[in-house]
Amino acid sequence: MRIAVLAVQGAFLEHENILRQLGAECVELRNSSSLAGEFDGLVLPGGESTVQGKLLRELGMFEELKGRIQNGMPVLATCAGLILLAGHISGSPGAHFAALPVTVKRNAYGRQLGSFSAFARIKGIREETRPFPLEFIRAPYVASIGSGAVEPIAVIDKLPDGSKGRNTVGVRYKNQIGLAFHPELAGDTRCHEMFLSMCHA
Ligand code: GLN
Repeated sequence: MRIAVLAVQGAFLEHENILRQLGAECVELRNSSSLAGEFDGLVLPGGESTVQGKLLRELGMFEELKGRIQNGMPVLATCAGLILLAGHISGSPGAHFAALPVTVKRNAYGRQLGSFSAFARIKGIREETRPFPLEFIRAPYVASIGSGAVEPIAVIDKLPDGSKGRNTVGVRYKNQIGLAFHPELAGDTRCHEMFLSMCHA
């Protein structure tokens, strides 16, 4: 199985390490010629969504990837990747792939909680007694969901500083998994296993 990993900016190597550990082959997407080969799934890593969106367009990959996502290619999008997928970005007139009918709020936890850890049960991953470790780095969250077909799969109900209520931090919609946190930094492969099982299908 070959997985394409967007490798223009951000935390792509960590995803590749886990995917290889799980037996997948990785192709790094750096420019339009890297799109020539076949691949079974796509990873959009964390980083800086504005920069990634700009590079995707400048490097000639944007339209082709958008088409593949719309045609059902399985996607695992984390943090900035979730922002790239989102239909709407709160407070911003623009969007990127706009394939996932949710509104995301960027840098949603403010300065004090720029980075933090939490735990949650994630719907759809291999069951174990331990919850999944969530690592957040200047993370977005899903502020609203625009279609009943979008399933929240990860919700945190308490922040480390004790503030706020429930926040959706992971969703699944058709071929797309969008996570506000960084499963590639968790030392737990279950989110990537779930993604690879979609790529097998
Ligand atoms: N804050 C970043 C953005 O808005 C996302 C951070 C991340 O991917 N860790 O794009």
